[in-house]
Amino acid sequence: MPTESDATQEARRYLEVCNACRYCEGYCAVFPAMTLRREFSTGDMQHLANLCHGCKGCYHSCQYAPPHAFGINLPSSFATIRNESYEQYAWPPALGNVFKRNGTVVSLVAALGIALALILTAVIQDPGVLYGAHAGPGAFYQVIPWWLMVVLAGGSLGFSVLALTVGAVRYWRGTGSKPGPVIAPAADATVDILTLRNLGGGGHGCNDTDEGFATHRRWSHQALMYGFLLCFASTSVATVYDHWLALEAPYAFLSLPVQLGTWGGALMLLGVIGLTWVKIVTDPVPVAKHLAGGEFALLALLFLVAATGLLLLGIRHTGAMGVLLAIHLGLVLSLFVTLPYSKMVHGLYRGLALYRSAQEKRTMKASSSD
Ligand code: SF4
Ligand code: SF4
Repeated sequence: MPTESDATQEARRYLEVCNACRYCEGYCAVFPAMTLRREFSTGDMQHLANLCHGCKGCYHSCQYAPPHAFGINLPSSFATIRNESYEQYAWPPALGNVFKRNGTVVSLVAALGIALALILTAVIQDPGVLYGAHAGPGAFYQVIPWWLMVVLAGGSLGFSVLALTVGAVRYWRGTGSKPGPVIAPAADATVDILTLRNLGGGGHGCNDTDEGFATHRRWSHQALMYGFLLCFASTSVATVYDHWLALEAPYAFLSLPVQLGTWGGALMLLGVIGLTWVKIVTDPVPVAKHLAGGEFALLALLFLVAATGLLLLGIRHTGAMGVLLAIHLGLVLSLFVTLPYSKMVHGLYRGLALYRSAQEKRTMKASSSD
């Protein structure tokens, strides 16, 4: 068992005050989950930290926030504990260290991904093919062979899915989560995730930048999440077209894969721009500033993936397609590889925390109605 961190001890002290105060009870899922406990184990602290979505509502409304002597600042401490939980439960365990310098690691992986894709393409491809214009079915595979795309994309995504699955099991066990009802809590958590209900702050929004309420962060996050899912759907539909319908890319602009990818890419760009703006202008006190590098690096990577995908659509019939295709593929591979080792992993742990919270609420409700 690792030694408990300063952030965990600090947040536990805050929660002991919060459990007596309870002013923020209706703000988010954290406070109802807190009231179910009298004591907070390390696993409980990690669970509550992953349940927190960093709206800062409890900071801006707290009479004990800095400069008060209690110095209660839950959003900042919870952000640090979340990052520590990503590090602790990462698989393979040695790779958990990448969360210590996440901005540097994500930037390096992105640069290496681009370099690797460009070098591989240049090595295996004749310059006349790489810099030539290609059109018609199979044009992309004339530049980067189908087998190479499958090996690189399938290998990196397959490894990340394995790492995320093992990480999820390690997190679930490590935070002391117990078996319980499955279907109804899973449905509750799915609705919470798809609507990002907790980022709505009960309707008026969150304290995105200061003590005023706004919904910029919620809508930007929605745009990014749904944009990412649309792009994933685009790739999945294209795979079905290619392997089961024998229709090779590139596809017409109005085809399903291109439409899904275009709308998905545009939403991702909007989401990244919105989230970056909120991060730049927000009040820095209730924020864990040491984590900003990793967050900005991931936003930059997501921006580049979406931007190069859209640009590829615009210039796919020109001689620039080959190099841009290699750059886009390198960026996508970097994103796949960093899924378990960047802020992207928060979606998994937040989902598990919402599921556990829904389980606890339903178990409580059932036992009080008995
Ligand atoms: S954050 Fe402050 S106001 Fe909110 S419950 Fe805790 S002590 Fe009370
Ligand atoms: S920052 Fe928002 S989500 Fe996190 S504990 Fe405070 S009120 Fe809840």
